[in-house]
Amino acid sequence: MADMTREKCIFCAIIADEVAHYRVASSDLLYAFLDAYPISRGHTLVVPREHFSSLETTPEMIIKEMAIFVAQYAPKITRALDADGFNIGINNGRAAGQAVDHAHWHIIPRYEGDGLKSWPNTSTNAEKLSRVAEEIRRKI
Ligand code: AMP
Ligand code: ZN
Repeated sequence: MADMTREKCIFCAIIADEVAHYRVASSDLLYAFLDAYPISRGHTLVVPREHFSSLETTPEMIIKEMAIFVAQYAPKITRALDADGFNIGINNGRAAGQAVDHAHWHIIPRYEGDGLKSWPNTSTNAEKLSRVAEEIRRKI
């Protein structure tokens, strides 16, 4: 999908109430609504009211607000729906599955036995782990 400008952004249109959606919660800076193609019952997207394309371009102050908002609302949504847990997800960049270029965090309520699988683990060894940790430390 091409890079979306604020003018063409579906989430900006939702925040402006120009597109049908199902609001869950909101604050001065943030807006939360149901994902239209839910992974589970109550799958919610939390977005800044202002358009930022990704996590990297979102101001730190907004990221802090999002973290606090998600930490407060994920358990509330979980309890409201009688769910048993939740996943928090951020897909950042096309390779990571980001389809909408308006920063958003997923709250995915989880239900015992829902059958959803997380990503598969792989096996590695101490030498590889040591090398990759060293590479990261050196370059960040
Ligand atoms: P991502 O892959 O992280 O960019 O997630 C984008 C999410 O937005 C997907 O889970 C979609 O199902 C969801 N989505 C796309 N269009 C809409 C819409 N109009 N209303 C609600 N959710 C949407
Ligand atoms: Zn937007």
